Amino acid sequence: MPASIRILVALVPTLCAAQSNETTHDAALTACNQLAGLLGSSLVQTSGPSYETAIANAWNLQNAEFQPTCIVFPTTSSHVQVAMKAVYDAKSHYAVQSGSHSAMKGWNTVQEGVLIDFKNMRNASYDPVRDSIILEPGVHWQEAVAALEPFGVAPVGGRVGDVGTGLLLGGGLSWLSPSQGYAADNFKELDVVLVNGSAITVTATNAYSDLFRALKGGGNRFGIVTRYELSAVHTGTKDDQTWFGGQMIFDSSAEALMNATARYVREVDDPKAVILVSMIYIVAGEDLVPVYLVVLFYNGPNLPTDIFGDFLSIPSVSSDLGPRSYFDVAGILGLGNERGFVQHFGASALVGEENLFLDAFNHWTNFSTAYKDNFNTTTLAFTPIPDSQIQAGRAKGGNIINAPGGGFAAVQIYQQFKAGINVIPADVKVGIDRLFKQIPPSPGLPLYVGECDSDQKVFESYGDYELLKRIYSKYDPERFNVKHSLGPGGL
Ligand SMILES: Cc1cc2nc3c(=O)[nH]c(=O)nc-3n(C[C@H](O)[C@H](O)[C@H](O)COP(=O)(O)OP(=O)(O)OC[C@H]3O[C@@H](n4cnc5c(N)ncnc54)[C@H](O)[C@@H]3O)c2cc1C
Repeated sequence: MPASIRILVALVPTLCAAQSNETTHDAALTACNQLAGLLGSSLVQTSGPSYETAIANAWNLQNAEFQPTCIVFPTTSSHVQVAMKAVYDAKSHYAVQSGSHSAMKGWNTVQEGVLIDFKNMRNASYDPVRDSIILEPGVHWQEAVAALEPFGVAPVGGRVGDVGTGLLLGGGLSWLSPSQGYAADNFKELDVVLVNGSAITVTATNAYSDLFRALKGGGNRFGIVTRYELSAVHTGTKDDQTWFGGQMIFDSSAEALMNATARYVREVDDPKAVILVSMIYIVAGEDLVPVYLVVLFYNGPNLPTDIFGDFLSIPSVSSDLGPRSYFDVAGILGLGNERGFVQHFGASALVGEENLFLDAFNHWTNFSTAYKDNFNTTTLAFTPIPDSQIQAGRAKGGNIINAPGGGFAAVQIYQQFKAGINVIPADVKVGIDRLFKQIPPSPGLPLYVGECDSDQKVFESYGDYELLKRIYSKYDPERFNVKHSLGPGGL
């Protein structure tokens, strides 16, 4: 093994202490050899341009440094079945990648194992008879929104275009969430390949209704989804400017913004209103340049001042508020497809008085100042999850996150590291862990798995954690996924 690969192997997170390196290596080779025979060399690759491009496509540079033993590029659900059966029989490690935007190291790729990469399954269509949106797992949100807009419908999906459908399995926070629930609350039917390669269709009412619920927040732990049928939201076409809003950018007034955010989270419960507050520092030499971005929309002809007045009254450096179609809303944050940097996410969840939000901001500012030499940008973002969102989800059958009613903010703590930093330095990791302790979730609130650190106890924070564990034991009694794939802990 070349020295560079040995170093790499040493750096990647380990999966199964019980399996020796040699066994892991042999198991992966066995699975890959079998798959090459069964599926052919165009669908199963061990090197070459498609293999290299797929590796490099991981959004977090840390995930682009893994080298799977082979990559399977399925074009049908049957290919995924064949792949999982071979993985299961060989007891190989494996991973699944759709949009590639996981910030968590190792959650969408694998060293010494089989990577199933959905880049060739990216169709999005509308079924008017069932009033459903059908997504293949490899589609990105910008592609889905563009394909469906002519029909006047949209999925409850991500807010950034290059992100993919892995978002759905974590729950999913959308511009449509205040009225429609978490993105996953809009599942109608899912085709799922279980760890042993068997394929099932799960719905809220068939024999797999428990698995259906677990897939609404269970991430990559409960099977591989090869087809999503989602409720269509009739958002209109590009010409239907039924929304009003846009972005406001501030270069100061952090305290006023935190006060406005705290009040919004506590008090606003209008399913037509949605905001995202991102406090960003861009590191420029010795300076942290504040760029505070507030995206705010109302599904109506203007921004009601009783909802948005606090934000609107703070002097901004730029603002582009105006009438928009949902297509415009969905595209406002762009693609987010810049690659080549180590990225790190962490999660909290807050509801409370103004000082709670200001304290979080101050802790994050101190952290950003202390470690700024490592970062291009550092971000503290707040996505309000109003009571209307939680109730909409419950009305649609409920999800496994089972957040308490009343509303709160999902808090994302995000750093993009400077080019040249390939591993998160130990001292920064200490700082990150300290920051998590300084900004703990308010009691009883769930963390969001799409925006967490891999060490955070996300499943444990769910309202239905005990049920989640029972469903996992039922569908994966050998704990194959936990032993052979990285992902959220706690099962
Ligand atoms: C720039 C950016 C913007 C974001 N914006 C939002 C946002 O607006 N709202 C929000 O809720 N979240 C957002 N997120 C977080 C996002 O939900 C997660 O990063 C999510 O994991 C991305 O899904 P993906 O398909 O792009 O990534 P991937 O890394 O491909 O997949 C994510 C996880 O899901 C698993 N997975 C993917 N597909 C399948 C499948 N078919 N079956 C089983 N497991 C699967 C993967 O193994 C991996 O563990 C954002 C993230 C980034 C980086």
